[in-house]
Amino acid sequence: MICEMCGRDTESVTPVNVEGSVLRVCNACLKFGRPLGSPAGPGAPRQGPDREALHERLGKAQGRGLERDLFAELPERELDPDWSRTIRQTRERLGLTQEQFGQRINEKTSVVHKLESGAIAPPDALVRKIERTFKVRLTARPGSPP
Ligand SMILES: [Zn+2]
Repeated sequence: MICEMCGRDTESVTPVNVEGSVLRVCNACLKFGRPLGSPAGPGAPRQGPDREALHERLGKAQGRGLERDLFAELPERELDPDWSRTIRQTRERLGLTQEQFGQRINEKTSVVHKLESGAIAPPDALVRKIERTFKVRLTARPGSPP
């Protein structure tokens, strides 16, 4: 049989992939091509499964990331633009000092002061605590009337 790479007459030839085309080569020329996974297909069967596995792994990783993002965004609620005034008016309506107000929600007087002046925005947990404790709404809901 004739090697299609070097043209030498040899006892046996092996089909290999040389830059996209299949050549039947002698043992000396095997190193110039990539071995075929199956002799039936002229494609590149060796890389296919590896790439698919990689895509599958990437896809799963992205899927998990997306899930995490969705869960992270769920508890976020937008504060009402008047949230600091609402806190002060609620406290005054109940006749509480800033200290007493703070005791009800387990926060320091200075925190209450900063909240009422709008110096700090309450974290989500504190927003919910104030809303629950004083039955007020500090968050704006898109689409709902003001
Ligand atoms: Zn050869």
